[in-house]
Amino acid sequence: MGLSNLKSKFMTRNDCYTAGRKIVPKGIMVHSTATPGVMAADWFSRWNKSYKAGEINRQVCVHAFLDDKEVWQYLPWNHRGWHTGGDANNTHIGFEICEPGGFSYSGGSTMVGYDVKKNEAYFRAAWKNAVELCVYLCKLYSLTEKDILSHAEGNKKGIASNHSDVGHWFPKHGESMDTFRAAVKKALESKDSPNVEEDFNAGDIVEIKAPATRYYPGGPTIPNWVKGAYHLITQTEFNGKSVIKGGKACVLLGKKISKEKWDDSPGIMTWVDKDLLAIISKGVEAEPEPKGDQKYYRVQVGAFSKKENAEALMARLKQSGFDAYMKYD
Ligand SMILES: [Zn+2]
Repeated sequence: MGLSNLKSKFMTRNDCYTAGRKIVPKGIMVHSTATPGVMAADWFSRWNKSYKAGEINRQVCVHAFLDDKEVWQYLPWNHRGWHTGGDANNTHIGFEICEPGGFSYSGGSTMVGYDVKKNEAYFRAAWKNAVELCVYLCKLYSLTEKDILSHAEGNKKGIASNHSDVGHWFPKHGESMDTFRAAVKKALESKDSPNVEEDFNAGDIVEIKAPATRYYPGGPTIPNWVKGAYHLITQTEFNGKSVIKGGKACVLLGKKISKEKWDDSPGIMTWVDKDLLAIISKGVEAEPEPKGDQKYYRVQVGAFSKKENAEALMARLKQSGFDAYMKYD
């Protein structure tokens, strides 16, 4: 299960995306946009552009933007981002907190006309989303609050460029990176914090790690085109049992998802050793739905452009005992 308000859409036109370099996330860097009033969803069209093609004047991309309502993931978490102007790009997942409107900047990082009282509700909601995103990423990559830095702190450590975010903003609301880390620590220790399953789920999008040669020990050889695409996990079990092949627990990879266009087409439909897979996106959207005093989680397993593909998956879900239904957007 992921964050209830996390959505993914990758900036496939951005040169950072097409550069396609990978990282093993060792930390998280917190930024804020210094662009008053531009919200998380708005950054997609602003930054899903190619510098090489002259469409944008900056070579920049971050993993996610968030505001008081939404969290938008724009790069796979294990993709090397261009957000720090320093070595932290090789190690850190970067996200931007969008700043509210109604003020301006002077002298680089001085907020002019920033109404603390008016912006308090926005700040608290965005702060909460930032804490929850950090908790989610810490669980996903076995990190702790100590692995979280702001851009300005990264600069002091010599791994990021000379920016002042978020130290120019948080103190206006009585907060700092230390109180932010304390909030993440508290949430990580809380029993109520959302559980990020390290295991794979149907609906997750994965890729096969570069060194892999066979789908599982003694199994078929993996063709190159398979490694050139992402894949949707279609099933994690068969008849209620985990599937072991060549001594390894496997999941079924179904639809192929193009890295370039992020669209889907029929895929390999092959069981693959879980140890060979890296998560690209926890594609499952789940939201608690109050019904009486019981909570339900509704799970979306993939989005499809072709109706027959959706129907085929639905048939399989029903076979596996799920109460499946289809929804059109
Ligand atoms: Zn920054």
